[in-house]
Amino acid sequence: MTEFIQRVIDPADEAALLDTIDRWMERDMRPVVMHHDHNDIWPAELVKQMTEMGLFGATIGQEYGGLGLPATTYSKIVTRISSYWMAITGILNSHLIMAAAVERFGTEAQKQEWLPKFASGEIRGGIALTEPDAGTDLQAIRTTAVRDGDDYVINGNKTWITNSINGSCVALLVKTDPAAEPRYKGMSFFIAPKGPGFNVGKKFDKLGYKSIDTAELNFEDYRIPAANLIGGVEGQGFFQATGGLELGRINVAARGVGLAEGSLRLATEYAQVRKTMGKPIAQHQAIQLKLGEMVTRLEAARLLVANAAQAYDRGERCDMEAGMAKYFASEAAVRNSEDAMRIFGGYSYSKEYDIERYYRDSLLMCIGEGTNEMQRMIIAKQWIKRNPA
Ligand SMILES: Cc1cc2nc3c(=O)[nH]c(=O)nc-3n(C[C@H](O)[C@H](O)[C@H](O)COP(=O)(O)OP(=O)(O)OC[C@H]3O[C@@H](n4cnc5c(N)ncnc54)[C@H](O)[C@@H]3O)c2cc1C
Repeated sequence: MTEFIQRVIDPADEAALLDTIDRWMERDMRPVVMHHDHNDIWPAELVKQMTEMGLFGATIGQEYGGLGLPATTYSKIVTRISSYWMAITGILNSHLIMAAAVERFGTEAQKQEWLPKFASGEIRGGIALTEPDAGTDLQAIRTTAVRDGDDYVINGNKTWITNSINGSCVALLVKTDPAAEPRYKGMSFFIAPKGPGFNVGKKFDKLGYKSIDTAELNFEDYRIPAANLIGGVEGQGFFQATGGLELGRINVAARGVGLAEGSLRLATEYAQVRKTMGKPIAQHQAIQLKLGEMVTRLEAARLLVANAAQAYDRGERCDMEAGMAKYFASEAAVRNSEDAMRIFGGYSYSKEYDIERYYRDSLLMCIGEGTNEMQRMIIAKQWIKRNPA
């Protein structure tokens, strides 16, 4: 059922792609980040440019119109962008997790129908798993899909769904057999484009991750063709949804590295120009201790992400590696941004400086794609399994 898709890229092509992204950020993205973030404006022009660069097909196979990038290259892109503006990578990430579910678990007909449109950005979207009473415990979801002839009729509520206002499709996790035991056997995953009965509710006013549309969804007798059931077989949804999270975790980890790197960059610059007691604060040991910890954390996080992405690209089971990368890199993002806040002193608390955004944005990294509490449990379980007594 699961299809491993080997991805490789020529180092020169990777370097050229990263260079294109650097130039785009310098020219188009960096000048407008603060304005978008402070006013919670969805970045329409930047999304158009990302579409033109092919980024909505970054990890989708070339045979379906995507760039076919390996996770190692994609995570470098995510880190680079996140080192200036993490939030915008959410528009790509959730979309590509939806695409990965179709590419890994979909039928050939589903791949042919949906992947070219996902890759071109004609259809953008995300993943709808979480419900008001089911986040970590995904098997407790209550949204149902009931077969009716050639269709399914879906009813229920989702919450915290990224890209749900400006996107036009989600990969939707439902129960096709609510009475099934164990519960995961009754879960299915659908490609769910917007249509009658697919209602977008309240947009969340968030602490950080501004400019990204995160909203509630309500499904009221929402009817979709049975052909939209990913893989064509009921009962596979839990594994399809959580299988995609491996890549999702690597991506969140890559965002964490970006936030940790950006925080360090800002703190390093500031510490060399801000003077107290007649010298730059970078020459005070208390500041050096922070910088020393920050750069070490950053490099450790970067290596863990590279390790997990390489394992993913080799087709190995990597829930432990992805979990370690996600856990460590997201905590590194929080710690580095907090240390940078201390280094900026009072100015850290001003919205005229960028560093407060890194602090707000970094906290999300500990929650998304499985909380850090759960990551440590996943790591431990895999560790024990690999080391039987
Ligand atoms: C900005 C943002 C964007 C999001 N985007 C999406 C999206 O696009 N799609 C989507 O489906 N979801 C999305 N989410 C939801 C996110 O995935 C959930 O918030 C997350 O899975 C945690 O679920 P919860 O909030 O219900 O917390 P809960 O599951 O209620 O957990 C609360 C606390 O209890 C801990 N906990 C729970 N169970 C256990 C356990 N068994 N052992 C130990 N500790 C436990 C958790 O770690 C956490 O600390 C988003 C969330 C945010 C904040």
